[in-house]
Amino acid sequence: MIIILMGPPGVGKGTQAEELISEYGLTHISTGDMFRAAAAEETTLGLKAKEYMDTGQLVPDDVTIGIVRERLQKPDCAKGCLLDGFPRTIPQAEALDDLLLHNHREITTVLYFDLPKELLVQRLSGRQVCRSCNATFNIHHAPSKVPGICDSCGSELYIRDDDKEETARRRLDVYEMNTAPLVDYYLDSKRLTEIDAGGTPKEVAAKVRQSLAAFI
Ligand code: AMP
Repeated sequence: MIIILMGPPGVGKGTQAEELISEYGLTHISTGDMFRAAAAEETTLGLKAKEYMDTGQLVPDDVTIGIVRERLQKPDCAKGCLLDGFPRTIPQAEALDDLLLHNHREITTVLYFDLPKELLVQRLSGRQVCRSCNATFNIHHAPSKVPGICDSCGSELYIRDDDKEETARRRLDVYEMNTAPLVDYYLDSKRLTEIDAGGTPKEVAAKVRQSLAAFI
């Protein structure tokens, strides 16, 4: 299985990714997590990516396609993977199709989540992420049991720099311009499954499970 999670920032892809990897045993590939890890380690790639991330811009396609190409070749991807935050542009989507074709594999489906923009800004500004295990919470609709502490591993939660309102709005604009065209790209090739992302994470997970039943 190769599942792609698509949708604007703040729609809840990360939360659904956690559910899906544990339920279907998929390897989680999040380009955002990969860039943040590289930035924390201060590698050349990480420092370059950070410049784009901090201003809400996309990391250039050649860099992003390169890290995904490398990652997909690792053995843990053979059992199936969940792509979260990739592809985000038409050239990335075309590169992924080429890469998979070359490896005799294909996308199972693209799960496309959507919500109205104001709700997305509110969700982004309420988001908290665990410093240690990357689990995500939201002070508005999915708070941790103890404020500021991760339910899964007990580490400290923090607010990402790019979730601050101004950058969050810019990321939504960048999404509209670069990533929204992918909806038609995957719709035209009949690979898109639309999911209404309204409701609690559990309710959305139930909709996802129901949609994926058609592919198992
Ligand atoms: P995310 O955690 O998926 O919201 O990604 C955080 C940031 O990482 C984005 O705002 C971009 O700067 C960068 N990024 C993640 N995935 C991609 C991608 N597929 N293409 C370009 N930039 C990306």
